[in-house]
This record gives sequence, C-alpha cells and structure tokens, in this order.
Amino acid sequence: MRHLGAALALIALTATHTTAAADNWPASAALHNPEGELVGEVRIRDTEEGALLHARLLDLAPGAHAFHIHESGTCEPPFKSAGGHYNPGDTEHGLDNPKGRHAGDMPNIHVPASGKTELEVLNEAVSVDELLSNDGGTAIVLHAGADDYSTDPAGAAGSRIACGVISKR
Ligand code: ZN
Repeated sequence: MRHLGAALALIALTATHTTAAADNWPASAALHNPEGELVGEVRIRDTEEGALLHARLLDLAPGAHAFHIHESGTCEPPFKSAGGHYNPGDTEHGLDNPKGRHAGDMPNIHVPASGKTELEVLNEAVSVDELLSNDGGTAIVLHAGADDYSTDPAGAAGSRIACGVISKR
C-alpha cells in the first residue's frame, strides 16, 4: 500500500505540474497547412518585456519563412481570410522600415532539412490579452518565403503556407 500511495502521489504531482505548465501559456494557435494537416503549434504568454511566442514546427518546407501575427482570427485556405498583419498602430510593414513596424511583424523562422524546429520569439509590441480580445480575433501565419523586413504591406513573403487562430488555452 505504501508503494501504491507513493505512486499516486507522483501522479498527483505530475498532474499539478502539467496544469501549471498549461497556465503559463494562456494562448496558443494550432497551425495547419492549406490541406488541413497539423504542421505545428505556437504557444503565447506574457513576460515583462512583451509576449513570448514558443513555436514548435513539425512539418514545414526547409528554408526561411515569414512569421507574422495577422489581424483576423480566420484560417480558411488559402488563408487570405486572416487578413493583413496585426497593425493597431496603423504603421507600415517591416522590422527594417523607418515607417514601420506592424505589431504583428516578427523575425523569419528558419526550418532545417528535417522540416522540424522549435524556437521562441519575443514580440514586445503585443500582449496575450490584446491578441485574444481583438475584434475578429488574430492568427499566426507562416509564408512560403522570407520577409524582406521592408516591403509594405507584407514583406514580399509569398503565399501563406500555414495558419492558426490564436485562442485561449
Ligand atoms: Zn507587417
């Protein structure tokens, strides 16, 4: 019985830990490709410096892909439904644009030959609350090509290859 008790205590501890971990990431987006297959997940939480996005990508074409927060929480292939970049400040596109940036602009993601990668990006221009409460929602979108960080309005990044609505976890 003592052994069983210890095992149950361990299970309880594990469950508590899992719950705590989920609470640390109050928002997420499940990324699907235009064929409807799950290709990754982005979890989002606030830090003192801004929103931290943890991306786990499972199956993407190798190379550089633009990675943006879009202004509409709708992911209907070919994902034009997600609208433009999240841009509450009404500025131009691009991390390197003197008249930029959109709040939804972030650095490119680089995918190795395996098609899998995991990374974190700090976006100091947004918070979890505003992404979840935006009228019409918000979405994460990955593009076929790299963001050139300057061409308005979308960085000349090509078609939209993955999309996920940002939702409360
Ligand atoms: Zn932009």
